[in-house]
Amino acid sequence: MQYDDPDRVRSLDELEHWDFQGSSLAVLGSPIGHSVSPAMHNAALNLMGQTQHIFADWRYFKFDTPPEILPQALEQLHRAGFQGVNLTIPHKVQAVDLVVEIDPGAKLSGAVNTLHRREHGWAGFNSDGYGLEQALLRELSVELTDATVIMLGAGGAARAAAVQCLQSGVAELWIGNRNQERLGGLIDLLQEAPNSERVRGFDLSQPPADLPKHAVIVNATSLGLKAEDPAPIDLTTFESETKVYDMTYGVENALAKAAKEQGIAYADGLSMLVWQGVRSLEIWSGAEVPAQAMMDGACFAKGYSPRRA
Ligand code: NDP
Repeated sequence: MQYDDPDRVRSLDELEHWDFQGSSLAVLGSPIGHSVSPAMHNAALNLMGQTQHIFADWRYFKFDTPPEILPQALEQLHRAGFQGVNLTIPHKVQAVDLVVEIDPGAKLSGAVNTLHRREHGWAGFNSDGYGLEQALLRELSVELTDATVIMLGAGGAARAAAVQCLQSGVAELWIGNRNQERLGGLIDLLQEAPNSERVRGFDLSQPPADLPKHAVIVNATSLGLKAEDPAPIDLTTFESETKVYDMTYGVENALAKAAKEQGIAYADGLSMLVWQGVRSLEIWSGAEVPAQAMMDGACFAKGYSPRRA
């Protein structure tokens, strides 16, 4: 079998004859073709392998995996000897019921994106919250402790982000969503988290008058994935010290343009992607991970100009 093109989308049938001689890692999703995770992780592993021989034969692959066969896929990967797995859309919630151990933070968020091999199955972790925390710190000089955060969205990405905000001790966490049922579900779930009394929900279509005017706004809605999407919130009501972190990346969207017009600091979601990858590879390798190599791998794969991690 061919292993020299880790960027090729593989099918699970290939696992029946998996004889890669090194340590295998993988990302599962559907669709998965666009994923830059193999480029990011293999760039980091390549650099790590130059100084630490043990990592020279580690390789990261991608598998297209429809949700109905996720349980079978995880069994197959375990049997084939994989050391670690990343999960992306639509698997993060379903996989919570498929692990033999779960990290407390991942359990709280009800989602796992990183699986680490154990003797009889997988241990589940969630590195998305760590990715957001690092991205905020490095790109916007925001420390979550004592920050006032306005989270937009209540889907999978917002769950992990909200748990991280509370675990890190934000002063206030406002969560705005369009669908009020989904918002209520997230707020219920957060009751188990530390500092849950600091959470306030609101209807994203009617932001309340007492919404803080100086805050860290995190866009965790899928609005902004397309250039023509409207901004999820009107930035004109916020002071210029406000900072915006947008989990979407790849297009100059309405939120980015509005922030620029108002002189509000803005960063897109590529750094969160990179830092969640750093955390995943730390979990699997137990070693220090070169974040800049991951950022370089991601930028190269996306055709972006180089950026600092
Ligand atoms: P989900 O599908 O789970 O949630 C989508 C969210 O977007 C919901 O809150 C939904 O609100 C909201 N939304 C969708 N359309 C609209 C609209 N027209 N108006 C208002 N709100 C809307 O997606 P995820 O949580 O998994 O992902 C959210 C975003 O975060 C995506 O853009 C994804 O690419 C990005 N992401 C980035 C990561 C990174 O590392 N940078 C990591 C993970 C995700 P409602 O409940 O009302 O439908």
